Amino acid sequence: MSEPENVWRNNLPELVLLASVGMIGLLLLGGTRSPAQRGKTPGGANVVGGTAGPPRRINDLSSSVPARSASEPAKLLVDADVRFAEWTTPVSAGSQANPIDGQRAYEYLKQICAIGPRISGTPGMQRQQQLLAEHFDKLGGTVAWQRFRARHPRSGQPVPMANLLVHWHADRQRRILLCAHYDTRPLPDRDRNPGRRVSGRFLGANDGASGVALLMELGHQMPQLDSPYGVDFLLVDGEELVYGRGDPYFLGSEWFARQYVQQPLPYTYRWGVVLDMVADADLQIFQEKNSLWWRDTRPLVEQIWSTAARLGVKEFVARPKHDVRDDHVKLRNIAKIPTCNIIDFDFGANNRYWHTEADTPSKCSGESLAKVGWVVYEWLRTTP
Ligand code: ZN
Repeated sequence: MSEPENVWRNNLPELVLLASVGMIGLLLLGGTRSPAQRGKTPGGANVVGGTAGPPRRINDLSSSVPARSASEPAKLLVDADVRFAEWTTPVSAGSQANPIDGQRAYEYLKQICAIGPRISGTPGMQRQQQLLAEHFDKLGGTVAWQRFRARHPRSGQPVPMANLLVHWHADRQRRILLCAHYDTRPLPDRDRNPGRRVSGRFLGANDGASGVALLMELGHQMPQLDSPYGVDFLLVDGEELVYGRGDPYFLGSEWFARQYVQQPLPYTYRWGVVLDMVADADLQIFQEKNSLWWRDTRPLVEQIWSTAARLGVKEFVARPKHDVRDDHVKLRNIAKIPTCNIIDFDFGANNRYWHTEADTPSKCSGESLAKVGWVVYEWLRTTP
C-alpha cells in the first residue's frame, strides 16, 4: 500500500472555510446553557451536506505535533504482509459479558451503506444525517449541528458542511469525546482498476460507516453509562472531501477544534477517541504512533489497550504500527484535547481494500464492531 507520502496541507487560505457558524456554533457557544439545553436546537434535525474522508494522511500543520511527526512524512502504511488468518474470539475476563450488540451494529453499518456514497454536500450525506438525527434522538441523546462551509476542491463552489454532535449526560462537567468521520471519499482512487479510480463508486463500509455504526450502537448503552464523565459523540464532516494531493483533509474536525478554542464551552473534554475503520472482518488494531508518542495521549492509549487485554480482546495489539494522520491530530493539536486514534489500518492484506470499491459490508463484521465497542465501553466505564 503505498500511498506516497503526501503532504496535504491544510491551508486555510486555500481551503477557505467560509465560516458560517451554524447552529452548532450556537450550541457550542451556548453560553451558560447546559449541553443538553443547547443541544435541542430548532431544526436540530436539519440536514446539510457533508463529505467523507479517509484518514491517514499527512497534513496538519498545526503546531504541537512532535518534531518528528511534523517533519517526517507519515508513512501511510506499512504493511508488512500482514495476514491475520486467525480470528480469535475474545475470552471475557471473568464472567463479564459484552453489552455491545454486534449484529445490530452491523445492521447499522449496512443501513448506512444502503444509502450509497455519503460525500460531503450531497443528497447521500443528507439522508445519512437525517437517519442519524432520528436515531440518536430516539435513544435520548441531544442532537446538535455545527454548520460551516468549505470550498469544493474541484469546482471551487461552497459546500455546506455539518458536524453532528450528540450529547449524553448533560449534567456532567467532565466529558469525553468519541469521534468518527461520517463522510465518504468521493472516489475509490486506490482501486486496482485504474478506470474505477476516476469513475467508480466508493461505499466506505469500513472507512466511513464503521465508526458511525459503532456510535449508533454505543448510543444504546449511553443513557445507563455509570461514569463520572459525560460523553459526547462527534460525527465530523469533510474528513476526506479529497480528490488529489493538496486537497485538505479533516475539515470538520479542524472546524470543531477551532470553535472549541475560540468559543469556550462551559465544560472541557478530558479525553477524545477517534474511531475509524473499526469493522474489518480481519481485525487487528495496533497502537497508532502519534497517539502513543504524544505525551498527553500516551496514558489514554495505555488505558484503552490495557482494558482490551483485561477483557481478552486480542485484536487490540499493544504495539505501535502505522503513523496515521486522522481527525485526532486536529482535536489534539488545535483543541488540545488529548485524543487517540483507534484504527485498523490493515484493511485486507497490504491494506488492499482501503479506498477501493472493495470497501463494502462483506469485508466487515459485527463481531469486530462488538469487540471494539466493548473495549471502548468498558474503558468509558472504568477510566478514573
Ligand atoms: Zn478514507
